[in-house]
Amino acid sequence: MSSLKVLTDNNPILHKKSTAVAEITNEIKQLILDMAETMKKEQGIGLAAPQVGQNIRLVVINTENGPLALINPKILWRSLRKETEEEGCLSCPQVFVPVSRSKSVFVTALLENGKKRTFKAKGLFARVIQHEIDHLDGILITDKK
Ligand code: ZN
Repeated sequence: MSSLKVLTDNNPILHKKSTAVAEITNEIKQLILDMAETMKKEQGIGLAAPQVGQNIRLVVINTENGPLALINPKILWRSLRKETEEEGCLSCPQVFVPVSRSKSVFVTALLENGKKRTFKAKGLFARVIQHEIDHLDGILITDKK
């Protein structure tokens, strides 16, 4: 495993829409390991592939059971009830922005083993997923100001 460089917000890669992962290759699996390592080192609770220079739809989220990789994640439903909390981002050092997000979301994604998983997320987990999926669409918290 190796730790990767996290890009910061003036980098054009962060502002591009990412493309779907076509196949879960060994390179993708290695990238997941490296992203998990990077997230741990940087003390983040989530990391999206564009933040480490790859415009592909892959995010890694820190959960109580360890890092969870979501491939081609998609929000199927979001609650109308929203909550505003201050968010930070490894790509926007020293910046905190109050962001309104749905309190819960229904998400579908592929796991690292290629199996499809559909689940409901709420609270901080839902917020992190929405933040990371924004990255895949080229949206940063600084765009939410
Ligand atoms: Zn972020």
